[in-house]
Amino acid sequence: MSFFSDRLSHVFYFESARKPMHRKRINLIGLLAALLACWSLAGAAQNVLMTDLVGTPIGRLPCMNRGDARLVPLAMLAKSAGFTVEAVRGKEHVTSPSCLTIFEIGNGFAEVNESFVQLSSSVESWDGSLWLPLANLDELFPTTVELSEGGDIIRLLGIADSSGGPVTLLENEEPAKQRGVWQFGKVILDAGHGGKDPGGRGPDGMVEKDVVLDIVRRAEQSLTALGIPVVLTRRSDQFLTLGQRTRLANAEAGDLFVSVHCNSYEDPTIGGAECYILKPARSERAVAVAAKENQVVELERDAEQYEALTEENFILLSMATSQYLNDSERWSDILLKKLTSEARLKNRGVDQAGFYVLMGASMPAILLECGYMTNPDDLLVLGTERGRQRIADAIADSIVEMKTEMEAAAR
Ligand SMILES: [Zn+2]
Repeated sequence: MSFFSDRLSHVFYFESARKPMHRKRINLIGLLAALLACWSLAGAAQNVLMTDLVGTPIGRLPCMNRGDARLVPLAMLAKSAGFTVEAVRGKEHVTSPSCLTIFEIGNGFAEVNESFVQLSSSVESWDGSLWLPLANLDELFPTTVELSEGGDIIRLLGIADSSGGPVTLLENEEPAKQRGVWQFGKVILDAGHGGKDPGGRGPDGMVEKDVVLDIVRRAEQSLTALGIPVVLTRRSDQFLTLGQRTRLANAEAGDLFVSVHCNSYEDPTIGGAECYILKPARSERAVAVAAKENQVVELERDAEQYEALTEENFILLSMATSQYLNDSERWSDILLKKLTSEARLKNRGVDQAGFYVLMGASMPAILLECGYMTNPDDLLVLGTERGRQRIADAIADSIVEMKTEMEAAAR
């Protein structure tokens, strides 16, 4: 194991139940002092006044001091402003007009419509609610919350009058996702490896980079015939960094991203197809696969960019993509079933690990290992044009099914 893969194991192999290392413990004494201060100053400076659009007071939010920052309870703010709050896999998703804001306890960043906002204090949990830094409220809920200069008045722009009626959209505002209007755009197909990075090797000079390029080009043809727009990250024997692949996917605004690979292993009895999604690994085997697929960064000129991938950054990065995990998992299931029925590859299931190529993709993203070049049964599929066509068709069919599901869910 190289130094690099050693470090990868350290980064990606940690218990999913383990709490984030950077989570700040709430100092009970400090908190009690802050609450006492809140209580004793009730109605005075420690509370924040909320007003409607025209400035009529509609209520007050309690405040808690954390260092230099003042925190306010999300639940009370959401109730007054009419936001929807939903817990999704350990994160709080807050939907306000024209905005989806995502928080995580202990995190000093929040995600606002897919970009990050650095908070003046990390998000805390207390008394059944998350507490958010007051100073960042207008960045966290743009077009809905306006903060006075001293930070003592919160103007709720969505509340048209002091009767506290339902939130109405302001002029020229549109919901982030117009329900029923969303339509599937395009799919990004990524043939793994390429150029100076051959990937794994099979018998008779078979190399992974060629096999997967052929499969991806066939899938492109099948999808184009079905009227689904496709973008390939590479269409020749070309070297691409892992980051370039995801950046291209985002720049093309893809709706699905699949990185296609095939596996190799010392034990020839191991065979079948596997899908991976981006989440901390739960097994040594998944760690080993990720280490192998990530190894290419050693060939990249600016490998240092990955140095910063600490556990904390991983949590942050996966937070940015967590909203797509359900779809990624669902797609993996569909694809593996199709590979079993159409290409006769054994279904080895969906697993999770820290694959660089999936990081930062703003769409459901999966990594497919479509068989082992070291397994005799899989070689009958991977080593023949007909077999590779079947794999390509299974990929295309899974995308058609996902398109239908995603469009139905948007309605
Ligand atoms: Zn590979």
